[in-house]
Amino acid sequence: MRKKITPFLFSLLFFLFFIKCSLPVYALDSNENKKVLILNSYHSGYTWTDEQTNEILSTLYNSTVNSSISVEYLDWKRYPSQENLTNVYNGFKFKYQDQNIDLIICTDDAAFSFATENRKELFSNAPIVFSGINTEGLANMSPGVTNYTGVLEEIDPLKTLQVAKEINPSLDTIYLVYDNTESGLSAGKLCMQAAQELSPTVKVVTLTNMSTQDILDTVQLADSNSIVLMASYSFNSDNQYISHEQFCQDLSNVSPVPIYHIYDFDLGYGVLGGYLSDGKLLGESTGELAIRILSGEQASSIPIIQNGTARYIFDYSVLEKYNIPIQDLPINNTLINQPFSFIKTYKTLVISVTCIFILLILFTMILLFYIRKINNMKKVLQNNNEELSQLYEELTATEEEIRAQYANLATAHQLLADKSDELYRLAHHDTLTGLKNRLYLYEEIDELLKKTPQGASLFFIDIDNFKFVNDSLGHNIGDLLLKKISERLSSLGSNNHFLIRLGGDEFVYFVQEIESKNSAYQFALDIIKLLSSPFKILENTLALTVSIGISISPENGTDIETLLRNADIAMYKVKNSGKNGVSFFNQLISDELLERINIEKYFNNALNDNEFKIYYQAQIMTDTQKIDGFEALIRWDSPELGMMSPIRFIGISEETGFIITLGEWILRNSCKYIKSINDKYNKSFHLSVNISAIQLMQDNFISIVRDVISKFDFPVHLLELEITETVIMESADLLSSKFKELREMGISIALDDFGTGYSSLAYLKHIPITTLKIDKIFVDDITDPGSEINLADVIIDLGHKMNLSIVAEGVETLEQAEYLQANGCDKIQGYLYSKPTSQQDLEKWILSYPL
Ligand code: C2E
Ligand code: CA
Ligand code: CA
Repeated sequence: MRKKITPFLFSLLFFLFFIKCSLPVYALDSNENKKVLILNSYHSGYTWTDEQTNEILSTLYNSTVNSSISVEYLDWKRYPSQENLTNVYNGFKFKYQDQNIDLIICTDDAAFSFATENRKELFSNAPIVFSGINTEGLANMSPGVTNYTGVLEEIDPLKTLQVAKEINPSLDTIYLVYDNTESGLSAGKLCMQAAQELSPTVKVVTLTNMSTQDILDTVQLADSNSIVLMASYSFNSDNQYISHEQFCQDLSNVSPVPIYHIYDFDLGYGVLGGYLSDGKLLGESTGELAIRILSGEQASSIPIIQNGTARYIFDYSVLEKYNIPIQDLPINNTLINQPFSFIKTYKTLVISVTCIFILLILFTMILLFYIRKINNMKKVLQNNNEELSQLYEELTATEEEIRAQYANLATAHQLLADKSDELYRLAHHDTLTGLKNRLYLYEEIDELLKKTPQGASLFFIDIDNFKFVNDSLGHNIGDLLLKKISERLSSLGSNNHFLIRLGGDEFVYFVQEIESKNSAYQFALDIIKLLSSPFKILENTLALTVSIGISISPENGTDIETLLRNADIAMYKVKNSGKNGVSFFNQLISDELLERINIEKYFNNALNDNEFKIYYQAQIMTDTQKIDGFEALIRWDSPELGMMSPIRFIGISEETGFIITLGEWILRNSCKYIKSINDKYNKSFHLSVNISAIQLMQDNFISIVRDVISKFDFPVHLLELEITETVIMESADLLSSKFKELREMGISIALDDFGTGYSSLAYLKHIPITTLKIDKIFVDDITDPGSEINLADVIIDLGHKMNLSIVAEGVETLEQAEYLQANGCDKIQGYLYSKPTSQQDLEKWILSYPL
């Protein structure tokens, strides 16, 4: 909607502007000048005539036709005589005879009649356009006339009367006023016909041939159901021409009822109105016809216009006077004398102004909206600004504080700087001995090492049994000893020697630019020597030994951490092999040590986690080939280290003492298992269990064995304990009583790996063993064609002489077995018959064994 109004408004304003600025422009030049004569029947000043003439003139002037117009009046109303016409004729003859008139326009009958009669002589026989002649008049005048056209006067009194009836439905009397003139009579006649048509019962009082006063008097008495209808009234009863306008005014002044009319010319003089023949409309239509003819059309070819020259016109002030509501009037009426209505008069202007006003209001509202918004923003900004300035104040306050704190800090910083050397010294030195400490080693020596690519050596020095000093003599003595040691060690140093106390009884010597491995070794010996002379501490004299591990850069590491770790490993190696010595680091010790450390680490949980499994290897009787029994062999299936052979972990478990627990577990579980097998298959398989010297040395060993036997009700004669030859030889005295006790209990004792140690045959006699196990090395030799004496034979012989049972181990071939059988070996154990077998597989093996 708004979209449509806006362009409309603009074009409207534009249009108004142009209407004001431009004057009509006539195309005068191109056309030839046409001579037009307007011939009026009546006189100038007669409203009806003036209306027509003026309208014709303005229509012609506003057209593009270039014309010069003469206006003439026959004055037939006032002088309806032949004399008048003769004078006019003469005058016209004088005026127009020699002029070339192009068109004659005649208003009303007299002019048309004069023109048709005289145009040949006077007006160059020009075509005629008539105006304001009624049908009847035209019919009288036109026979034989050609070359004309025109606009008929539309007089329709019925329409006027219908309006009167509409306004006052009980209308019963019509006072009809008309004069005695030709046109008056004709109009009066039409009105009477119309009254009849409206209603046959309506009474028509004709006010004609009466004096003006009589008419006024009659009308004055008219009752409310009557009207006055003016037809035409220009002459009174004395045949005097009167001003019909004045007459109407007088009549209306006295009339109690409304005065209707059939012409428009008395409107404004007290007449109410009606369907009025309009002189202006007539003139306009006539002018338009004239233009067409002047533009070249033939007058006779243009049809006569019948209608369109009358309309409903009413005087508003008269309507008010008689209290007639506008609604009672026909819709398409025109009102005159309406009180001035600004809105109606300046409708477009009002619309435009209203629109502009609305636009302005809108604009103002938008403006106000933005002003408010801006004001709000201003407020927010102001608030922010206040907050900011507050913040700024706070900040300046804090800044002062910060400044003060900064000054404090600066003082503190200065103090710190003053103390930093001291602090550095403290941080990098050992408080007890004053030597450099571990931090120094990691920071400074590491740096130094990087600048020594040609090689350096690191000595890890650990005092042997220092714990003993501390524990037995107290920490004071321990500390004093450490001070003394560090003093002595310091005496060794030169420029490129750095002595560090790592902590406890551990010291490190870092030596830059070592010449050779030899010189390093020599330096280590110097240390040992230096510390070997006894220390006097208070009243104690203490002799010391040390273990030293050496690592050399770059072979054993290029950073201090690696060098230190490797020197530690080398030192550990010394400790392991009896302390009091020197060892260089090499990868082998490292690996060995690593495995050892791992094994020790994982031992702890292995037993609880069921990682140990006992395998069983059969021993076969040589003579019968039957199964005599089984040797229990331990396995460790470690999730971290994989399947471990006992060779790898038994030694370590002995060193750590773990074998005590493990050995007991093996004894218990193997006894339990073999007992269950014997019971299940009704057999008497014997069980050989390997026992470590460490187990044997435990005071409770015998009681453990007793406990196991009784717990599982294991037949003692089926239990054999295997002890390695070396163990027995080394501690025969210590263990002989235990062997005796075991033997007394009925338990057999086998000497394992016989032949590999240095058995003194003399000793053998004193040990109560029952079995000799020939080591695999001798079994391997049996079939060696190169060897002259077969040691296996010797052992078998010797054993038998001592009444011992002989078992051969590691028998892998039939040849070996046959040889051993032939030479009287009692039992055979080896892969030939069975590999060590898990519990799950052992039963199957037993069942599949043929004998
Ligand atoms: P050992 O007591 O001399 O055990 C015999 C070893 O020889 C076993 O090795 C066995 O598997 C292997 N062997 C048997 N027959 C043959 C063969 O025909 N050919 C070859 N090449 N080898 C054969 P394993 O089981 O690795 O045991 C190694 C050693 O670990 C044992 O030597 C023993 O000293 C020790 N050991 C094993 N189990 C235990 C145990 O339960 N307690 C203790 N204290 N030590 C055990
Ligand atoms: Ca064994
Ligand atoms: Ca053995």
